[in-house]
Amino acid sequence: MSDIIQLLPDAVANQIAAGEVIQRPASVVKELVENALDAGATEITINIKDAGKTLIQISDNGSGMSPTDARMAFERHATSKIREAKDLFAIRSMGFRGEALASIAAIADVELRTKKADDEVGTFIHVIGSEVKTQEPAGCNNGTNFMIKNLFFNVPARRKFLKANSTELKHIIWEIQRIALPNPDIKLSLIHNGTTVYDLPPANHRKRLVDVFGRSLNQSLINVDEDTSIVKVFGYVGQPKYARKTLGEQFFFVNGRFMRHPYFHKAIMQAFNKLLPPDTYPSYFLFLELDPEAIDINVHPTKTEIKFENDRDIWPIIHAAVRESLGKHNVVPSIDFDQ
Ligand code: ADP
Ligand code: MG
Repeated sequence: MSDIIQLLPDAVANQIAAGEVIQRPASVVKELVENALDAGATEITINIKDAGKTLIQISDNGSGMSPTDARMAFERHATSKIREAKDLFAIRSMGFRGEALASIAAIADVELRTKKADDEVGTFIHVIGSEVKTQEPAGCNNGTNFMIKNLFFNVPARRKFLKANSTELKHIIWEIQRIALPNPDIKLSLIHNGTTVYDLPPANHRKRLVDVFGRSLNQSLINVDEDTSIVKVFGYVGQPKYARKTLGEQFFFVNGRFMRHPYFHKAIMQAFNKLLPPDTYPSYFLFLELDPEAIDINVHPTKTEIKFENDRDIWPIIHAAVRESLGKHNVVPSIDFDQ
């Protein structure tokens, strides 16, 4: 009997991984902007054409990469962010899987220009479909510049199922919001087809919220601030009278990372109990901070689903923090408040 099992070539393995990590142009934007944050950038510019279908260009003023690292960055499971298994339990960076660049380069045309501040010259690398076409020294600015073209060129089914530009752009804008809100000190710009969508100057959390969602939000915001030994909860909830029939301005972040959390969402909905017009949702922008060892972000490649060791203890803390803030603003009737 002859044996039939073989290891897949890297390019194929990368393309399979890409299927999970890179769903649409917005996934590329998310991964590259998170890398820029991890590189310590204070300014990140995102320049896209045709909702990312034609071009996604991201430049940052972060650490840059050495020539060898620039090449290594495209290998699967190659990362500077963790070294051993125990590091998985104390993640402080946005990335750690070492999969994003390998995935993107497997299904697109990628140009990287990068330079560390201490180096004389930088590096230019061109990769198409996991194949390195060019690597050479190049004059470039300090920091890193990625240009992604021809996304999904070798995955026709994905390419075909991309939505209209307006929809894909909306997804990109959502990703930028999820990064902009927990990182108000970072200057962020988004340019689409030559038009500025966001030009966000460094700010505090409140100003950043208003810069992203518009001035009318400002009058609605109620401050939330609670510090316990398990978790710190801070941010803002919108006044009940500004609640809307559609979801959209509900944001949870944990240690600077956007997450979906239906269970904690219920804590907020209950805190607003009886205060909301029927079938409406309040806006909220809540930042949770806790020991990274008490959460597991390694649930899904996109890391928006996060497991909390103490979720049952955190629920009432969120509930009480929001309740108290509403009470301080005289939004909660005092009888109800003492119950
Ligand atoms: P991960 O972020 O999980 O480590 P990636 O594939 O996204 O994996 O990136 C691989 C590595 O490339 C990173 O660990 C980092 O060292 C380097 N890198 C990627 N983007 C940048 C950047 N914008 N600036 C500096 N280094 C970067
Ligand atoms: Mg990354």
